[in-house]
Amino acid sequence: MKKLVLLGGGYGNMRVLHRLLPNNLPEDVSITLIDRVPYHCLKTEYYALAAGTVSDQEVRVPFPEHQRLELKYGEITGIDLEKKLVHLDEGEPVPYDDLVIGLGCEDKYHNIPGAKEYTHSIQNIEKARKTYQTLNNLPANSVVSIVGGGLSGVELASELRESREDLVIKLFDRGKIILSAFPERVSRYVQNWFQTNGVEVINGANITKVEDRTLFNHDEPVHTDVIVWTAGIQPNRIVRELDVEKDKQGRVVLTKYHNIPVDEHVYVVGDCASLPYAPSAQLAEGQADQIVHVLQKRWSGQELPAELPTIKLKGVLGSLGKKQGFGLMAERAITGRIARILKSGILWMYKYHNG
Ligand SMILES: Cc1cc2nc3c(=O)[nH]c(=O)nc-3n(C[C@H](O)[C@H](O)[C@H](O)COP(=O)(O)OP(=O)(O)OC[C@H]3O[C@@H](n4cnc5c(N)ncnc54)[C@H](O)[C@@H]3O)c2cc1C
Repeated sequence: MKKLVLLGGGYGNMRVLHRLLPNNLPEDVSITLIDRVPYHCLKTEYYALAAGTVSDQEVRVPFPEHQRLELKYGEITGIDLEKKLVHLDEGEPVPYDDLVIGLGCEDKYHNIPGAKEYTHSIQNIEKARKTYQTLNNLPANSVVSIVGGGLSGVELASELRESREDLVIKLFDRGKIILSAFPERVSRYVQNWFQTNGVEVINGANITKVEDRTLFNHDEPVHTDVIVWTAGIQPNRIVRELDVEKDKQGRVVLTKYHNIPVDEHVYVVGDCASLPYAPSAQLAEGQADQIVHVLQKRWSGQELPAELPTIKLKGVLGSLGKKQGFGLMAERAITGRIARILKSGILWMYKYHNG
């Protein structure tokens, strides 16, 4: 029996499972999935979990069940590529024949003093829950600062606005205008939404230091009761510590078949993989489809195609609370209610399809 081990049950490896199970897993292959959390977490919804507008249960999806799928829950502490072993905080190391590393990402603090120590996070479920508790226990008129005006910062600020009308919310963004990676029409729409809904957007920000309840913007102190960090990501620590080639962002450089160049049995999926697009759940799923294709060919001794097709991405959708949204679909900017309805529909489909 060959053993496929999946590290992390996020968007990438959940797609691997769904493509192989129940009927496409060769008879002589078994799967072990290892995650610290005993269900698949909908990370794209952590902004709503943190804001307190959805319950914890709404961001969980059960893993599939299958005779040849073993689910192992624990903390992965390291990968020994030489011995083909995965180390956990408890119990025996887990051997593999094929490995797919899909451990997602963590906050990146850009060496800003105090940022790690004094800010809250929405990068994993445990931290998002803690952020939820802190934000929702705040007394009236408290000040919340969100650092980083990308997709997750914008979604958190708007959702929190709807959740807590009494809070003073500040969103610090480096760019001249929010969501600078989007078309200007989208950025303006979002910036206007914040203005209308009483979220203060601080453009051209440069956070130089963070202390307990104080943020330093261009070295000027700004009092704040809670700070949430959404200003950058980096691959998971386990991957950062792997002795393999990485790109400038610390993501693992892969062959066109998504395995590391020195071992065709070790694949990396999702936020930890160096790909020519910004990391996203959608990208992780598209890449996972290709990894499954490669695995199946290799398992059956078939030749691999000379090239894999380009991963097709449909676009990006963001929410502004429960009623408005924005995005880019097939390279067209969309804003307003329709964008929000589309986003909710995609989430519903994902949960229904995977649940
Ligand atoms: C607020 C927010 C909104 C977003 N919105 C969108 C969106 O609208 N569209 C989109 O496409 N993308 C969005 N993203 C990005 C998307 O969530 C990620 O790109 C995606 O989750 C990456 O998938 P992955 O499979 O690489 O890892 P993840 O989905 O992050 O899964 C990683 C898994 O590894 C497990 N794990 C990590 N470390 C360990 C360890 N040491 N031991 C055991 N288990 C471990 C975790 O528990 C987790 O289950 C959003 C992200 C955030 C934070």
